[in-house]
Amino acid sequence: MAQKSKNKIGITGAGASGCICAYWLLKAGLDVTLFDKNLPLRTLIPTGGGRCNLAHAEYDFRELAKNYPRGEKFLYSVFSRFSTAETLEMFEKMGIKTYTQDDGRIFPESNSSKDVQEKILREIRNSGVKFIQKEITSVDNLMKEFDSVVIATGGHSGYELLKHAGVSIVEPHPALVGLNTKEDLKELSGTVVKGGNINGIKGDVLFTHFGVSGPLIYKISSINAFKVMPYKLAIDLSPKLTDLQEKLNIYPHKEIKNLLGQYLPQKVVKYLLKDFDETKEACKIDGKTRDLILDKIHNFIITVTGTNQGEETVTAGGVDLDEINSKTMEVKKVPNLYCIGELLNIDGFCGGFNLQNAWSTAFVCAESIIEQAK
Ligand SMILES: Cc1cc2nc3c(=O)[nH]c(=O)nc-3n(C[C@H](O)[C@H](O)[C@H](O)COP(=O)(O)OP(=O)(O)OC[C@H]3O[C@@H](n4cnc5c(N)ncnc54)[C@H](O)[C@@H]3O)c2cc1C
Repeated sequence: MAQKSKNKIGITGAGASGCICAYWLLKAGLDVTLFDKNLPLRTLIPTGGGRCNLAHAEYDFRELAKNYPRGEKFLYSVFSRFSTAETLEMFEKMGIKTYTQDDGRIFPESNSSKDVQEKILREIRNSGVKFIQKEITSVDNLMKEFDSVVIATGGHSGYELLKHAGVSIVEPHPALVGLNTKEDLKELSGTVVKGGNINGIKGDVLFTHFGVSGPLIYKISSINAFKVMPYKLAIDLSPKLTDLQEKLNIYPHKEIKNLLGQYLPQKVVKYLLKDFDETKEACKIDGKTRDLILDKIHNFIITVTGTNQGEETVTAGGVDLDEINSKTMEVKKVPNLYCIGELLNIDGFCGGFNLQNAWSTAFVCAESIIEQAK
């Protein structure tokens, strides 16, 4: 009897990873049905502030993998097959030209996530994808209907679906998110401190009505995604201000608040000098006061009590990587069931790394299904 060709594929989730997986499968001539409870690629629209930071200019796959607090080792084999260069080539073929910013972030030349969305959707529609708008509630039913099933439901859902299929889930936690603090920092709300430093990690800090946010805090929130709260963080608000005494000597008649204002926003200076006479002249600041002020600047302590709800960019946690074959994306104990994208316990820093995970795991999964279907 002739072997049944394994060419009917059902993908749940028409986000970044689901659509790109469909793209490769369709290119190989397979029959692909994409299910999504929402419109396809809706999740791409807000990325990169509407500009779609679709990759990062790191072309060494091991270096690239270092940008993932969870998933680094797993991604070695994935990125060795499909990483930045292959991503740009894929988009180029779809008519999406890109450019690289000074900070390494890669964007489409159109600076429009809508444009990227339209071009990907045009490709898969022209190749005959079947799109069904529907919420999937059971993996079992899909497994009966399709030869291979891909789950690509992103960072917020899909866990229950997989738990029912016997797949272990690492409890999800918000990452790349603002942090709530016990200290009331409302009076600093809207102020940005440039070039802060927490444990050797540098970046800008934005004070908000709930605590802190901004690039440095996003990175720290990611590193500490599983840390038990409350926990304390020490921020160096002005690493460059190393010799305050020298500055006091150079400007003896400057009020201390104006002198510090050269290094920090006035609102922050006022906050730091609450317990001091902010109008005191530099020459009247004694050694003890100088050291107390310096300590407040270099060791600004905040107590993290939570993450800012609704601001989460990615989810740390998800499908336990021990359950997945990194060469195929197949669930080890459930043949023909695959998991890709943010649903996995993989998350990267800001800069194009999360979409890269989506594109790369989608490719590896598709390649494996194509191989099986032969
Ligand atoms: C505001 C914002 C900005 C971002 N900017 C960037 C950026 O510039 N660069 C970057 O690299 N990353 C960025 N990210 C992260 C990036 O968007 C995600 O990591 C990426 O979209 C994940 O792709 P995915 O395919 O795994 O999941 P998603 O793109 O989230 O897609 C999952 C899809 O599954 C569908 N779905 C879920 N459950 C079901 C179900 N039961 N049945 C049917 N359908 C279902 C959802 O409707 C959704 O369409 C950003 C995220 C946010 C929130």
